[in-house]
Amino acid sequence: MSNAGVERMLADIRTETALTRRWLGRDELDPKVMDAMARVPRDRFVPEELRDHAWDNGPLPIGHGQTISQPFIVALMTDLLDIPPGARILEIGTGSGYQTAILAELADQVYTVEVVPPLGKAAKRILDELGYENVHYRTADGHLGWPEHAPYDGIIVTAAAREVPDELIEQLRPGGRLVIPVGPPWSTQQLMRITRGEDGEVKQEAILPVAFVPLVEEGGNDEAPESVK
Ligand code: SAH
Repeated sequence: MSNAGVERMLADIRTETALTRRWLGRDELDPKVMDAMARVPRDRFVPEELRDHAWDNGPLPIGHGQTISQPFIVALMTDLLDIPPGARILEIGTGSGYQTAILAELADQVYTVEVVPPLGKAAKRILDELGYENVHYRTADGHLGWPEHAPYDGIIVTAAAREVPDELIEQLRPGGRLVIPVGPPWSTQQLMRITRGEDGEVKQEAILPVAFVPLVEEGGNDEAPESVK
């Protein structure tokens, strides 16, 4: 693994955390999350011709109109999940599998759902090669979650939803957290953290404006505007 690359990526994440402190309300992310970011070889999850950019703090295309998320956003969303020891985590949008690997470093079991079969397959191959044995894969529309393994300590959605799917909130254990970008497709969304209280009450926090590719909806999505293709 390129040590200089990792160090540069971690420094960029720290800088962006500091620059967004007005939204985040703090200066640093959880050191456990930063350690996981240091351990996972991001270069294995990006297309070969983009390896030189693997440690840049930006998203990169992974084919099928999808992207591997920006490292700062991966770190922030993982931090917001506040993964407890022994946790069971659900991820919607496996994509490259990079975020999945970070989750697998910190959680006991990770359940990941991807709607584009070749992406899910490629991610599984890399995660198997890297030796992650606590990841479970499903090809499906993630709007409905993965009820068979619920309840989850945390659910992370790595594509933008127009609204928060009720099914996902229902699959959280009391005290569990859902981290999800919510808003119109091909525009700016709000990264939301939704906490299901012990008493069943649901708390919503808007964390940061973000721009994610949209969650694929039944019947297909609107085409991306030329400006974001
Ligand atoms: N965490 C991934 C992000 C990938 S981009 C990474 O860093 O690599 C979002 C992913 O969500 C894409 O792979 C896309 O195919 C997937 N996706 C979009 N809509 C979905 C849906 N309805 N159900 C499950 N996965 C979906």
